[in-house]
Amino acid sequence: MTSQLKAAGKTHVGQVRADNEDALLVDLASGVFAVADGMGGHAAGEVASRLAVEALKETLSGDSEDSPSDRMYGSYNLANARIREEVVNDSSRQGMGTTLVAAKFDSGTVLIANVGDSRAYLVRDGRMRQVTTDHSWVMEQVDSGRMDEETAANHPYRNVITRALGSREDVDVDLFKQTLEPGDRLLLCSDGLTGMLGDSTILEILEEETNLETAVARLIEEANESGGEDNITAVIVEYS
Ligand code: CA
Repeated sequence: MTSQLKAAGKTHVGQVRADNEDALLVDLASGVFAVADGMGGHAAGEVASRLAVEALKETLSGDSEDSPSDRMYGSYNLANARIREEVVNDSSRQGMGTTLVAAKFDSGTVLIANVGDSRAYLVRDGRMRQVTTDHSWVMEQVDSGRMDEETAANHPYRNVITRALGSREDVDVDLFKQTLEPGDRLLLCSDGLTGMLGDSTILEILEEETNLETAVARLIEEANESGGEDNITAVIVEYS
């Protein structure tokens, strides 16, 4: 499996924020990849996103009797419990939470999981499709027909998310199973990328840059040139 995968990932603080609260996971040996976008201010957001990717790595590496879906739910629940425990131990971390978008590759398929507004995109045959649904207030408005997508993309409340790890005792996780074709690329990213670059710009960069390291570097560079208003994280995985 591992030999069929190539991957690159990078995170950058951006041009405005003092700290980087994003975290990423690139684990080629286990076929596990993730992006987490922490919140809660001070050091809290950094702690939450790091706890999330660590719980994921721990739960999804190695073999298991459990089904891939059960393992994925298990890792999100573990991440949620650890973040909540951290808040109990240190009340200054009240309100700490994180998004988590994750992918586990396994014999020609990928299982994608999501909580929050970080995203997974599938790039195939020159087209790019968002696999995940944003758990955000503006997306709820768009889904109910009260707002169009352009208004949503520029709305002052566009950063308000409706689901996060750490905020509630129960976690509601979206799962997507995708069959892979040779040449497929999966992009995982935080909203610091998608808030600065539209889908067509992201696709253009991915089509131009076939080297994954270069592609990730250019995505981050162009998000910074467009303002870099938030922490920027991108992970690209290619299946061959
Ligand atoms: Ca963010």
